[in-house]
Amino acid sequence: LQTKLPNVGTTIFTVMSALAAEKNAVNLGQGFPDFNCDPKLVDVVTDAMKQGLNQYPPMTGVPVLRDAIAAKIKALHGRDYSAASEITVTAGATQAIITIILAVVHAGDEVIVLEPCYDSYVPNIDLAGGVPVRVPLTPGTFRPDFDKIAAAITPKTRAIIINSPHNPSGTVWTADEMLRLQEILAPTNVLLISDEVYEHMVFDGQQHQSASRFPGLAARAFIVSSFGKTYHVTGWKVGYVAAPATLTAEFRKVHQFNVFTVNTPVQYGLATYMADPKPYLELPAFYQHKRDLFRKGLERTKFKLLPCEGTYFQSVDISDVSDLGETDFCKWLTSEIGVAAIPLSAFYGNGFDQRVVRFCFAKKDETLNAALQRLQTL
Ligand code: PMP
Ligand code: GLN
Repeated sequence: LQTKLPNVGTTIFTVMSALAAEKNAVNLGQGFPDFNCDPKLVDVVTDAMKQGLNQYPPMTGVPVLRDAIAAKIKALHGRDYSAASEITVTAGATQAIITIILAVVHAGDEVIVLEPCYDSYVPNIDLAGGVPVRVPLTPGTFRPDFDKIAAAITPKTRAIIINSPHNPSGTVWTADEMLRLQEILAPTNVLLISDEVYEHMVFDGQQHQSASRFPGLAARAFIVSSFGKTYHVTGWKVGYVAAPATLTAEFRKVHQFNVFTVNTPVQYGLATYMADPKPYLELPAFYQHKRDLFRKGLERTKFKLLPCEGTYFQSVDISDVSDLGETDFCKWLTSEIGVAAIPLSAFYGNGFDQRVVRFCFAKKDETLNAALQRLQTL
């Protein structure tokens, strides 16, 4: 069989979680919380199951959930999306992103990604027959380099994928940066895929600048989010796409044959739970506490800390700790020290090794303290 993805193996997240389990290490690799979600959320989902809401829902998502998503975007970002024609519930952000790409990328179309980037984007573009165009974020700061982005746009560019708050670097785009992007895209037909799964994890009073806030971006944007991140339920795999009606119509043509529908009782439960904004409004402070605890502990190690403005990831430079390359270092750290991490090279097409690794701090304080104790021995 001739493989369709010759450069793809098993994702680093699966590899490192398996090694962490085998070595009984504290797993700060793959991004997921080690604490449970709000029991109220479990209650409303099981209530929906008990009420018999267990068959196929509408293809686009249950109306009450689409209404709740539209109301939330309006309240937070001031933009009206039609729940009927502009919002679609998906099986997590991963399915949302591949479905967008399959819906809009024709063979030979170029799609710009900003490296380092989430590891599903490029294989998704390859599967659609598109051509990934990798534009580096500024080395060291991981901020967008608009001269490089502008220079990468050609008549063949179909779309650009952005991700703020950014996995893995933790940078959060400012309003000025979003405006720069809007200006660069204005004279083009380039579509925007805005991966906003960490929208509620932004620290130090900074605000998430959703593409939906910028009319010139929103008109060309698929905005992607994920309930897994926001409500501590990564295993439920429910998210959504908000996009203008013409784009949503194309999205749904593929969605109906790609996943068709998404878990019914979870959708009803989420709709009920979303009536209270408190859980997501409290999320920045909840994670800022964990970021600060973890950073403070890391300051007592030889790791050099990179900034963390958002997400639940903290990256560190390992060059004063070890001579190993990133991947070997992560394997060694997991096996010998008992803490799993993710090499940043996994987010680059060419495996670029800048001696930086990523820790996930979406963990109980006691888990973070246990990891810190081990890391402080280095
Ligand atoms: N995009 C980014 C940047 C992510 O970090 C993740 C989390 N793995 C996803 C997309 C996928 O989200 P989901 O689990 O909802 O598919
Ligand atoms: N988004 C999470 C991470 O970056 C989980 C990814 C995954 O397991 N595919 O770690």
